[in-house]
Order: sequence, then C-alpha cells, then structure tokens
Amino acid sequence: MENCLFCKIIKGEIPCKKVYEDDEILAFYDINPAAPIHILVIPKKHITSLAHLEKEDEILIGKIYGVINKISEEQGFKQDGYRVIVNCGKNGGQQVMHLHFHILAGKQMGEKVL
Ligand code: 5GP
Ligand code: ZN
Repeated sequence: MENCLFCKIIKGEIPCKKVYEDDEILAFYDINPAAPIHILVIPKKHITSLAHLEKEDEILIGKIYGVINKISEEQGFKQDGYRVIVNCGKNGGQQVMHLHFHILAGKQMGEKVL
C-alpha cells in the first residue's frame, strides 16, 4: 500500500528494531514506547484496521496472537503478564492506518478502561 508507514517498514524502506518476522507477520519496537517494553505486531498484508477485516483474514489474526504468546515467552514477560491493545478507527484513537497490535509489558499497568 503506497504511503502507508507500516507497509514501508515491512518493505524495509523505513528502518525498525525487529523483534520477530515470518512470511505473514512482523513485530518491532514502538518508536515512542508507552511502557518499558512496547512492541507492535502487524500483518504483512495491508489491512487498514479491525473494521476492514475480511473473513479470510481471521486465521491470520489467530496467528498474530500465537506470535504475541511466543514473543512474551522469548522476551521473558509471559509470566509477569502484559497488555495487548488494538486501537480501531477515529474513536479508538488509531493513528497509523495499518492494523497493529500493541504489546505493553515490563510494568504494572495502571488505568483500566475496562
Ligand atoms: P496507534 O495510535 O495507531 O494505535 O499506534 C501507532 C503507533 O505507532 C504509536 O504507538 C507510535 O508510537 C508508533 N509509530 C509511529 N511511527 C512509527 C515509526 O516510524 N516506527 C515505529 N517503530 N513506531 C512508530
Ligand atoms: Zn500498510
């Protein structure tokens, strides 16, 4: 997708600090961390947001959660726990319009909306 920041990261046109990569999924550190560990997990396929998910993407979303579980183990924060956030659209506060899963870890999470 032209002019999509995360598609440019996937293509290597913009550098990132990679945490995990396979054929379908990329994970890298957030440039402006909101916790001691802040990792973004994204599908390599351009999906604008959760609102743009198609039926065929649902297997990929399951794989993303598998990758999150793997990363939590490898990075050593599985046992202490962590938070996964997906912002969707305007009211969800989504700024980058390429579906991404925030992993926040390394501290006790504060404010809870739910
Ligand atoms: P959103 O607000 O869309 O849910 O999250 C977008 C996230 O992307 C933010 O946490 C922001 O810090 C991160 N971000 C924006 N630009 C870049 C970048 O160029 N590189 C990396 N690694 N993260 C970015
Ligand atoms: Zn994209």
